[in-house]
Amino acid sequence: MAPAQPVDVQRVAAALDGRSVVLVGMMGAGKTSVGKRLAAKLGLPFVDADAEIEAGAQLTVPEIFERFGEAYFRDGERRVIARLLNSGPQVLATGGGAFMNRTTRDNIAARGISIWLKPDVEVLLARVRKKSNRPLLQTDDPEKTLRRLLEERSPTYALADITIESRDGPHDAVVDMALSRLAAMFGPAETGARDKRRVEVPLGPRAYSILIGPGLIDEAGAEIAKIAPGAKCAVVTDANVSPLYLARLTASLEGAGLRSSAIVCPPGEATKSYAEYARVCDALIEARIERRDVVIALGGGVVGDLAGFCAASLRRGVRFVQVPTTLLSQVDSSVGGKTGINSRHGKNLVGAFHQPSLVLADSGSLDTLSPREFRAGYAEVVKYGLIGDRNFFEFLEYRWREVFSGGPARTEAIAASCAAKARVVVADETEQGERALLNLGHTFGHAFESLTRYDSSRLVHGEGVAVGMAAAFRFSRQLGLCSGQDSGRVEAHLKTVGLPTRIGEIPGLDAPAEDILAAMRQDKKVERGRLTFILARSVGDAFIARDVDEASVLTFLKSDLRLAPD
Ligand code: NAD
Ligand code: MG
Repeated sequence: MAPAQPVDVQRVAAALDGRSVVLVGMMGAGKTSVGKRLAAKLGLPFVDADAEIEAGAQLTVPEIFERFGEAYFRDGERRVIARLLNSGPQVLATGGGAFMNRTTRDNIAARGISIWLKPDVEVLLARVRKKSNRPLLQTDDPEKTLRRLLEERSPTYALADITIESRDGPHDAVVDMALSRLAAMFGPAETGARDKRRVEVPLGPRAYSILIGPGLIDEAGAEIAKIAPGAKCAVVTDANVSPLYLARLTASLEGAGLRSSAIVCPPGEATKSYAEYARVCDALIEARIERRDVVIALGGGVVGDLAGFCAASLRRGVRFVQVPTTLLSQVDSSVGGKTGINSRHGKNLVGAFHQPSLVLADSGSLDTLSPREFRAGYAEVVKYGLIGDRNFFEFLEYRWREVFSGGPARTEAIAASCAAKARVVVADETEQGERALLNLGHTFGHAFESLTRYDSSRLVHGEGVAVGMAAAFRFSRQLGLCSGQDSGRVEAHLKTVGLPTRIGEIPGLDAPAEDILAAMRQDKKVERGRLTFILARSVGDAFIARDVDEASVLTFLKSDLRLAPD
């Protein structure tokens, strides 16, 4: 454990502002010992939720389990914790299963700051071996049970505001770490490497890293110099982004001893054209960019797709670094190596797979993005939760405000999205199968985009995807695959952040169901006349359905069009 900085405990106590500090984690994690010491330092009362429950029931926890069962205990636990959280600031230690309850997590999020005490597994095992009063471990193989519980619960514990990993050190070290993490959480301004995240894309010889965090544009030179020392760089950007970030990027490259030149394109989708492709390629040749040099895309998905395709074809492939500056490009287009331009016959019809050598996602650069563009990118963030990670979706339900306002949760959400995309890309680099999951909401969404003639004043891609994902869940529900509760939750979250969810909300789209179906058939994901949809069994469990019959799509669309615009 790194030595903790001296912390102004008074300031931390004041910044809690009436909230409690809630310790969560497995049995044996040291919640009671750490909690008592932490409470003493903060000048707050310490309360052990299990002790409260035992006092109220006049029974021990094992006795309650034995007599009334786990469900009864959990229900009581939920009520006791809610009452304690309402009774004023304190340091509260909770039982190992408490944080698994959604209502309890909501209550903790509303009235407290949660800290996950995450000790080493071996330490946990050693500690619980010494104690016999753990009802969930009364099995033939307590060690196996503990490992299983840990595996099941860790993703949920990880939703806590703060995670403290510890080896078998003294509790006081954990207390100091908790205090310094709390102090960091309450500012001053976030700084340093703490906010940075790294996601690896292990594609063998084409492997690369994605770095995520505020201020990365200023560190781009140092990072690029690590992979391409002494290289010549050509920055491709657009006329909106260049006044905002080009000077910072150039200065950073210069600071690392990298020479650079810049090519500025007009902003907008029309830039993904043969004409711009030719112009940028020629400019790169004039700038004498060779195989070992680097093309840097600074901007959104348009710049990334165009510059990437130029890099893929120039001298049959030069190195390429993505510096994405829109949320969509940070979580989607900059990762995975798809590059290309549009033809008059359709979007992205001419292109190549060409993986970047590095992706630098400066989460701070999103502060200048329009709220509408930010929300549109957020639809793709939600998508990763819906496809395969229910915990991530729940994280977004709790922390979306901070994702939008730019706190650590933004970096976290971008990193989780990149990691999800990286997993799919690694499993299916050239989109033969599983990568199709990333099209959740897109078959519907592309149809809406085409019916509104790609007029971004009416509908931007992410908005089409939002309506499309909500529709995919409603369709899954109509087919009896998923519960109304889950499809309602998807709609509710998208709506909360201001994204559209109903077909009737798309301005000027008054096409009948037949036209929407016809537009879906045009989508390139249609294989030999069969409609491929990404459907879902629940939030976090999407699958590829290759043989969806057109009649059921039509029935669905007709009923869906009757829904009032929400
Ligand atoms: P975009 O590149 O057009 O950017 C949107 C707008 O925001 C533009 O006007 C741009 O100039 C501006 N902008 C960019 N960064 C900014 C910033 N930090 N502050 C202020 N303004 C900023 O659009 P996009 O949504 O990033 O990308 C859409 C493109 O991505 C589409 O062409 C789509 O086909 C492509 N895409 C590609 C992939 C892939 O895998 N390659 C995946 C998804 C989407
Ligand atoms: Mg998309």
